[in-house]
Amino acid sequence: MKGKIYLDNAATTETHPEVLEAMIPYLKGFYGNPSSIHGMAKYARDARECARSSVAELINAEPKEIYFTSGGTESDNWALKSVAFGNRSKGNHIIVSKIEHHAVMNSCEFLEKNGFEITYLDVDEYGTVDPEDVRKALRPETVLISVMYANNEIGTIEPISEIGKIARENGVLFHTDAVQAFGHVQIDVKRENIDLLSASAHKLYGPKGVGALYIREGVKLEPLVHGGAQERGVRAGTENVPGIVGMGKAAEIAKRDMVERNAKETELRDHMVRRILEEVPFTKLNGHMIQRLSGNVNIAFRFIEGESVLMMLNHKGIFVSTGSACASGSLDPSHVLLAIGLEHEVAHGSIRFTLSYKTTRDEVDEAVDAVKESVERLRAMSPLYADHLKSGIEKMEV
Ligand SMILES: *Cc1c(COP(=O)(O)O)cnc(C)c1O
Repeated sequence: MKGKIYLDNAATTETHPEVLEAMIPYLKGFYGNPSSIHGMAKYARDARECARSSVAELINAEPKEIYFTSGGTESDNWALKSVAFGNRSKGNHIIVSKIEHHAVMNSCEFLEKNGFEITYLDVDEYGTVDPEDVRKALRPETVLISVMYANNEIGTIEPISEIGKIARENGVLFHTDAVQAFGHVQIDVKRENIDLLSASAHKLYGPKGVGALYIREGVKLEPLVHGGAQERGVRAGTENVPGIVGMGKAAEIAKRDMVERNAKETELRDHMVRRILEEVPFTKLNGHMIQRLSGNVNIAFRFIEGESVLMMLNHKGIFVSTGSACASGSLDPSHVLLAIGLEHEVAHGSIRFTLSYKTTRDEVDEAVDAVKESVERLRAMSPLYADHLKSGIEKMEV
């Protein structure tokens, strides 16, 4: 597509050219099944193990602590369900935050139907979990704490090392959905006392349909997917070798480029936020100002529907996401935006722009200009906005 401006990198990213290049041999020539005995299998096995090391290195884990899966969703399901069912004799209580991804939320709902009790922790107005709330929620029967590393909608980075410390001190397993943070934020599973961590390749310029679960050595998890003896007998199914190779390459590049990428994105992010807040009245930044993913801009626009702006931007080849109707096409506002205390109306008027290492200042400026124009046009048609202007209130809390 020519002339497009893609600002939906939290949904998925473009495969990095080096990643694509690394994958092709495993689709074309070296297509052996790693479980076979012959020479063709060895190429695949070696490539898989090389990728495992690259993924491990990025989060300061050991290669043997990395298990490849079909993506973030499977990793989250595996962590939650296997810890829950595997520790039934010990307890039936799990602590999560109210802003988890649906992969965690809906796993929790399933577990509740199966006799588990879930505590959903509140977050503050910036989307931050208070580690003291985690401590207070602990019960003798708590078997797992699961708090995401960084939120996919509002970009808030959670106090993971504090939560990890509390979990470790109390002998409770700690899982973090790090799908948005993996390769974007410096993660150290050892220092942060993380027992289980979910990652996905396609949020990091890798291919779709491949991810990983880090399982700290010593933690025993029942398989979620039963079958052959792949992944040391705990995750069956012929490995997605090209995907795994791609994920390894994406991890390797992230290790090399993370500092540079983050610096560039942070500058553009702050520029975009500043311009929108200054140039468009009745707007507010959702999420934390500093503890925030470098590529995330999420803004609440009062008196408009986010979806309408999305459509107008789409028409101009600018691709963004709204804070509502999360993928499901439902009209319920996002659980994340409600959890940070936004009214339904304001949640519906929120838009997420997520940048990549390739996003340019010109693209950001063009997007802001288009947003301004769209919001002005929509507000001009809004009776609510007209009433509001008549009321003469200049400033309004959004
Ligand atoms: C995208 C995402 C997932 C799901 O990962 P998939 O690889 O798409 O299954 C889980 N959690 C978070 C925070 C995400 O952003």
